[in-house]
Amino acid sequence: MPATRSLSFLLALLVFTIIPVLAQKGKGLHHRSLLVDTHNDCLSAQTLEGRDLGEHLSTGHSDYYRFKKGGVDLQFFSVFTGETARTPLGFYQDALNEIDSLNRLILRHPDKFGFATSYREAIKRAHRKRVVAMIGVEGGHMIESDIQKLDSLSARGMRYLTLTWNNSTEWASSARDESGAGMVLSQKGLNAFGKQVVQRLNQLGVMVDLSHVGEQTFYDALSITQKPVLLTHSSVWSICPVFRNVKDEQLIALKKNGGVVCVNFYPAFISKDFVAQQRYWNGPGKDSVFALYKLSDTNSAKQDWQKSMATALDNARPGLAEVVDHIDHIVKLIGVDHVGIGADFDGIGFVPRGLEDVSTYPRLTEELIRRGYHKKDIKKILGKNVLRVIKANCP
Ligand SMILES: [Zn+2]
Repeated sequence: MPATRSLSFLLALLVFTIIPVLAQKGKGLHHRSLLVDTHNDCLSAQTLEGRDLGEHLSTGHSDYYRFKKGGVDLQFFSVFTGETARTPLGFYQDALNEIDSLNRLILRHPDKFGFATSYREAIKRAHRKRVVAMIGVEGGHMIESDIQKLDSLSARGMRYLTLTWNNSTEWASSARDESGAGMVLSQKGLNAFGKQVVQRLNQLGVMVDLSHVGEQTFYDALSITQKPVLLTHSSVWSICPVFRNVKDEQLIALKKNGGVVCVNFYPAFISKDFVAQQRYWNGPGKDSVFALYKLSDTNSAKQDWQKSMATALDNARPGLAEVVDHIDHIVKLIGVDHVGIGADFDGIGFVPRGLEDVSTYPRLTEELIRRGYHKKDIKKILGKNVLRVIKANCP
């Protein structure tokens, strides 16, 4: 056979035989595995904009039908409010409003969502038609430095507390502030009250989440906790060095603790090139667009800059393979028992190509198969590792 004909034959074999078989194999394994995602912000859109996650939605990254298409069995719904409270009653009330919103979702759609507060409940309800919902509270500021409020959130079903969001609390410093990108800190890490918080979380069976926290807080928390921790939505610093990602030394310490890091899909935590584009369009790129306009025409300049930036960032989005590179790195460094998925859908403005919403998770499994991962290791990455941490904290 001439070389060109044999090449076309090989291509045809790949396109019509090998790729579809791989996709089919991936889908089968994917839907037989328990898929746990540790971080999704869709509850905020439901609370603030009145989206009903039990219906087909054309906006956002998540709804019941897409969760099920993506094979999601257990979803941690993030309870969130930013560093300025949404209501005059404050951060704690904002958290309660989000929990109420999740409860109402489950009441409206008891056939589609089921609530769990322990490993046993999660396992019992998983793998049926329903999505098992668990609560993660993203940001220690929501306890308002009050242990009783922490106890109350636990009683309402909180099963992880992210010690800080980007904002530090008076008892724990965040990654943004420790890295110098935010507030100037008088002291880094956990103070005496912060240490008490970690101990109380252990007692209550609420997992300690160390995504978003500064390095000093990370090591302080690891020195105190008696249970394995989670990093519910963080990626790898050595691939994409931004303050929200975790360094190799931190990953090694996490392995000693028995914890799990769940990879975040946000392009700005996955790809250095995406970060470089973001920096360019917020710096010299912005200046060059504004320089083209007269001072009186700032609105047009702003529109032009935003449009140019959006196009450039869209073009710079990483692909699915670059997300799996982060999983590979963690597996190579600390083993396959310490990695999971915490995509951060509905909390991120851009998504990787091929991982556009919660329905796309089967592609992740296909890529893991393509890279030669063993079936039992894929199951660990998709959910078993996180389930082990849930079991150790809240059996
Ligand atoms: Zn976050």
